Amino acid sequence: EAKKLPEQVTFYEPSMANGREVQLVLENELYKALENNELFLQYQPQLKLNNTDLISMEALVRWKHPEKGLIPPSDFIPIAEESGLIVPIGKWVLETACRHTKELQDALGQPVRVAVNLSLGQLFHENFVEVVRSILKETDLSPESLQLEITESMTMDTQFLMPILQDLKKLGVTIALDDFGKGYSSLAYLKDLPIDCLKIDRDFVKNMKDDEHEPLVDLIISMAKHLKLNVVAEGVETIEQFNYLLNRECDAIQGYLISKPSSFEKVLHNCKNKVNS
Ligand code: C2E
Ligand code: CA
Ligand code: CA
Ligand code: CA
Repeated sequence: EAKKLPEQVTFYEPSMANGREVQLVLENELYKALENNELFLQYQPQLKLNNTDLISMEALVRWKHPEKGLIPPSDFIPIAEESGLIVPIGKWVLETACRHTKELQDALGQPVRVAVNLSLGQLFHENFVEVVRSILKETDLSPESLQLEITESMTMDTQFLMPILQDLKKLGVTIALDDFGKGYSSLAYLKDLPIDCLKIDRDFVKNMKDDEHEPLVDLIISMAKHLKLNVVAEGVETIEQFNYLLNRECDAIQGYLISKPSSFEKVLHNCKNKVNS
């Protein structure tokens, strides 16, 4: 059944198509994308600085659009968030990531942790904690193998967030604060948030070379240590950045230097090769 457009839309010339219309089309297509299995996950490893085993990885969602090709999450997550589609999409991401990780663990014979990105809309939706609980049960993944990533901007509303994070922690999952350093977190409540890990935003790592950013990265790492949090640097692209972070005792790194995000099949294949070698 064709979707009826609001009447005023008929007055627009196609050439005048504005952002809102493009967005409506994408929203409609995104709705179908979930049903048509056009979404898939890639995984990017996080490397502990003293170990080369695959210990942890982040799940990143992609959309393979039948005509438009590969659409990055930065183009469709905001639409999913605005339309509420983030709830079913987020659930699909969680389920898929947990199922894949369990499969990987079985192939490797050792634990691997997966980090899954969350949007505020998912947390707002009632029963989010129950959703996580039932997915863990259904996929038989142990809670320690799941890390949930929230962004710094979500921590604005601590009164709302705190009880949910506490309930999630009770399940046994860990929580990472993503994109740290972008400028929302107040140090006052950073110490109260029940988080386990800080992820230094890519921009800080990228600009580390210049004198202004280096002390900031140092500061974030020492603050994380002080608060007994793990610290992960993201977007590490060069050996210089790697060495710098190693010297500063950053716990883990993630970035193109180690690996670009890759398909589950590839990650599984690599793991199986390692086990057999
Ligand atoms: P993020 O959580 O900060 O994820 C890291 C992003 O940096 C990813 O982009 C990753 O591919 C990219 N990246 C990793 N290493 C490097 C590097 O060395 N250099 C550079 N230049 N980039 C690197 P991606 O996959 O395009 O994701 C963008 C954002 O979309 C994510 O940022 C996250 O906020 C959001 N996102 C991705 N998947 C999901 C999801 O399942 N749910 C939600 N809510 N958001 C998601
Ligand atoms: Ca993330
Ligand atoms: Ca990030
Ligand atoms: Ca980021």
